[in-house]
Amino acid sequence: MGQIAVSLEMSSAVAMEATRRRQRLSSNGGASETTEEPAGQWGRAWEVDWFSLSAVILLLCTAPFLVFFFVMVCDQYQCSVSQPLVELYSGEATLRSIWDKAPSFTWTAAQIYTVWVSFQLVLYMCVPDVTHKFLPGYAGGVQDGARTPAGLINKYEINGLQSWLITHALWYANAQYFHWFSPTIIFDNWIPLLWCTNILGYAVSTFAFVKAYLFPTNAEDCKFTGNVFYNYMMGIEFNPRIGKWFDFKLFFNGRPGIVAWTLINLSYAAKQQELYGYVTNSMILVNVLQAIYVLDFFWNEAWYLKTIDICHDHFGWYLGWGDCVWLPFLYTLQGLYLVYNPVQLSTAHAAAVLLLGLVGYYVFRFTNHQKDLFRRTEGKCSVWGKKPTFIECAYRSGDGGLHHSKLMTSGFWGVARHLNYTGDLMGSLAYCAACGFGHIHPYFYIVYMTILLVHRCVRDEHRCSSKYGKDWKRYTDAVPYRLLPGIF
Ligand code: NDP
Repeated sequence: MGQIAVSLEMSSAVAMEATRRRQRLSSNGGASETTEEPAGQWGRAWEVDWFSLSAVILLLCTAPFLVFFFVMVCDQYQCSVSQPLVELYSGEATLRSIWDKAPSFTWTAAQIYTVWVSFQLVLYMCVPDVTHKFLPGYAGGVQDGARTPAGLINKYEINGLQSWLITHALWYANAQYFHWFSPTIIFDNWIPLLWCTNILGYAVSTFAFVKAYLFPTNAEDCKFTGNVFYNYMMGIEFNPRIGKWFDFKLFFNGRPGIVAWTLINLSYAAKQQELYGYVTNSMILVNVLQAIYVLDFFWNEAWYLKTIDICHDHFGWYLGWGDCVWLPFLYTLQGLYLVYNPVQLSTAHAAAVLLLGLVGYYVFRFTNHQKDLFRRTEGKCSVWGKKPTFIECAYRSGDGGLHHSKLMTSGFWGVARHLNYTGDLMGSLAYCAACGFGHIHPYFYIVYMTILLVHRCVRDEHRCSSKYGKDWKRYTDAVPYRLLPGIF
């Protein structure tokens, strides 16, 4: 035990020394002018304030129970969030009786989950992308990530769309022709699967934590705050990998997490069909709107390499457990709710939900697209029919290199600083509104997404401010609002 502690500390010291030296240039030989001036410190925090620490500990202690609660209330209380609380208060139920009634771990669920994760692993590691060869406009195959704080540029094999297509083709073939398993298999094992996803989520986060001390992939991009809870939750390694291609962030976020999202929804729709003999228009709306979002993710997987998850967040419990447990269980609450409460919407209600979802998606997609186009062409493009306006910025990477970047001030990025989040929130509200107004259960998602994206906005701006300094101030003066012009 003592030996491990010493070894962990020594590894940490080695990593920090390596960080201090900051001699490493881009892994692909990318040019970075090495200077004598102090290096940039714009990645994740090195110091943890008491507020962040309290939030981290609170989340570590409550998040797994929150997920259990939202799934359990459907299983035992028809998705009523208040009923179990009332029963607990009146003494009709106890925490123990609720826990005892919930299905437990089963070996069947363990087998299903093992096959599922292994299958996704094989698709990710062993089937190089071919879809980019025949799908015009799709960027798959080997792609570059963004420059890390230490100045590295990682390479990724982008084959998520292909994995999604193969998985869903097999799902369809099974449902229509082979009948190896019931299309309700996911719903039928939902709570036992929660146990399995937790086991993987904790195993991966703990492995990543220990790996960061013992054999980090890029020591220069590790961050040790000195607080074990913060390190465990927010991660130490920036882009942990095994071998050249197994990237923890890309694999765990995309698959098994996001590939599963649409399959889970299909399983819910199949369950409605089995229970009631029909599928409601609300279930179809949820399936369609969320499938658009998922397909958008995979179509733009190369773009995802430039988002905060990959460019800023370190890999810890937040991403590891979050991708394995939080995402598949809480992002799919609407479909689960509709299995227990088969809401049939009026035409006007359904049309309003569809419109909100599509407008939200449009704002989300085109805001992201404008930035991507702008950055790829270094501003030599057309946005809303005009040459984009921008602010020139300079920043330093951890290796001391001086780099230049541009912040766009026109198109959606001139209206507000994060209109992509606003569009995402509109879409999220549409999923919830598709469930009608009978219970607050399906609305948890919009509450969560609002907290997530507002917090993300604040932390991204904090990072951009330390990265770009006075240039960021010029940008925020030019575009004063974050999410809603004139309000926030
Ligand atoms: P963004 O794609 O908005 O990326 C922010 C980064 O973009 C900044 O750090 C900065 O990076 C750069 N940037 C900021 N302003 C400008 C500008 N004016 N011009 C050019 N570049 C700029 O954020 P995310 O990565 O968080 O989100 C990507 C998408 O994913 C969003 O649409 C979001 O809604 C969605 N998302 C969905 C989640 C979900 O759970 N459903 C979770 C998180 C995100 P740089 O350092 O390069 O300058």
